[in-house]
Amino acid sequence: MKKIAFVFLSLSVILLSMYSYKLLNEISARNVYHEEDSTGKISKTEGNNETEGEQVVDRKTKIIEDSDLEAVFDYFRRQKDHSLILVNKWNLLSENYQPTDIKDAAGIVPSTKEQMLLQKEAYEALITMFNGAKNEGIEGLFVVSGYRPYSYQSQLYNAKVNAFSSQYDLETAKEKASEIVAIPGTSEHQTGLAIDFSSAELLKTADPLVEEFKNTPQGEWLYNNSWKYGFVLRYLPEKKEITGIISEPWHFRYVGIPHAQYMTLNHLCLEEYIEHVKEEKVVIFEDYFGNKYLIGFVQKENHDILLSEEFSLEKVMNVSEIGEEEYIITLKL
Ligand SMILES: [Zn+2]
Repeated sequence: MKKIAFVFLSLSVILLSMYSYKLLNEISARNVYHEEDSTGKISKTEGNNETEGEQVVDRKTKIIEDSDLEAVFDYFRRQKDHSLILVNKWNLLSENYQPTDIKDAAGIVPSTKEQMLLQKEAYEALITMFNGAKNEGIEGLFVVSGYRPYSYQSQLYNAKVNAFSSQYDLETAKEKASEIVAIPGTSEHQTGLAIDFSSAELLKTADPLVEEFKNTPQGEWLYNNSWKYGFVLRYLPEKKEITGIISEPWHFRYVGIPHAQYMTLNHLCLEEYIEHVKEEKVVIFEDYFGNKYLIGFVQKENHDILLSEEFSLEKVMNVSEIGEEEYIITLKL
């Protein structure tokens, strides 16, 4: 009996120390800002032992001085993601650009490849979307393409140029190739935020990425529902002058909530949406689920929104970098 009690006690001690160790780690990972300090000032401290040189930002803060502004921008730099990054033939990604957090969706959602890499946010939204589709009786939806590194895009493009160069001179071959395969650096797939879909039926045919996809139950479901999960149909035929791509009814792009719904409702492609937010500076939007958001454009010399009554870091749910020190911030009101 004593022996059993002893084993039980030792086990509890081990479990308890494991739990406190985990808890301690979690706390130290979170200590970038003070939640408890509500003096309304952003306090700066240098040389926190975990995060050397990082400024401590009070999330309940209002901007009063230039130093507060600097601290908020520092916070933006650390929190930023690329969910609204614009990639097209006029806005190229460098050869070295790579999404920060890459996950493999193969085996988790129906995919045609052994590996289907995506940027983390897009990956998580995709899983939620597949669950949504399944709950509404949609089967036979497949992911055909996700993250494509620059080097792979180069291979695809060069192969096309080679195929055309038997018929045309090099310049014409390149031009012809670029109509079918994106020039390296101009493909959204390099962000890990773009996904090509197809259906079980179309996968039996020679080319599963065809115009036809929009008339399948899977395609239709995506057009009507993908915005609820943060995705938009990226290339519409009527926007071809702005996007530079004729039509790709299979290519969806993760932009996040609530942007996907705003773009879909207002019939704006990503190029137009970014311009719209830049021009308006502040957009207030209530989504389909009754959630209210403030979407604002911020740069150093253009930060009125940070001085407004509505703004506090506490409400910031997303900071998306769209250019050098240029952000679209999303606040949940
Ligand atoms: Zn695509």
